[in-house]
Amino acid sequence: MKNNKSNILFIITMSLMLISIILFIYYNNQQELIDKSSKPCAVSPYLANQTQEDSLGVKYVFDPVYMWKGRSEIKIYFLDANKELANKTLLIANSWLDETNVKFVKEENLAISDIRVAFRRGGGYKSLIGNEALQFKYSGLPTMWLDDLDKQPETVFKRTVLHEFGHSLGMLHELKNPNAKFNWNEDEVRSYFKGLKWKDSDIDKNILNPPPKRVISSSFDPNSIMIYQIPSKLLKDGQAILWPKGLSKDDKYIINKYY
Ligand SMILES: [Zn+2]
Repeated sequence: MKNNKSNILFIITMSLMLISIILFIYYNNQQELIDKSSKPCAVSPYLANQTQEDSLGVKYVFDPVYMWKGRSEIKIYFLDANKELANKTLLIANSWLDETNVKFVKEENLAISDIRVAFRRGGGYKSLIGNEALQFKYSGLPTMWLDDLDKQPETVFKRTVLHEFGHSLGMLHELKNPNAKFNWNEDEVRSYFKGLKWKDSDIDKNILNPPPKRVISSSFDPNSIMIYQIPSKLLKDGQAILWPKGLSKDDKYIINKYY
């Protein structure tokens, strides 16, 4: 009898150890997959840039497939931020939503969080798009990277939080809007973005390649928070794009429309 009990205990212990090892390997593989990218801000590789225009001709680049439907709260878990930093980030992020019925709220329970923000995991600045963060493969892992952003000046902090939380609501980059009609100087583009540690494939995907033909496009909004700075030397003609200062009128319009 005693032997039987010992055997059962031994089997349970071994099973638990095996499960722990499998989970440990799984977690580390996921971490490797996600953190390898060195892009300052990146959307998921399989997401096509999609732009749309409503009947008023308002400009935006938004993918409704990834919006949070039927929500009054989107739960944010801060993996490594103190209370002050978390609250400051949420206050800025919520300016996207101040005219909607949805709010970003702080969640203390990792297991039921929707979005997980990491300030100390490297990875530059990037975010998954909208409800993509709910996919099982990201369970318990960061879905938004704000790498040491709190050590940057206030203007950079605000702009980056707005941009990344824009992605988290379903917004995509304005830069790939086909109606922007950038006349790129390819050599300069490659040299500039390689300086930011982008790979050639990232440069092609995020800048140089045209969007898929199925894209429905609006006119270009150079004031969108979903654009980043483009120095004039990267363009054969046309004006440089400056860093946006905050949410544009049309950024707010589209979020109010969908949320
Ligand atoms: Zn971005």
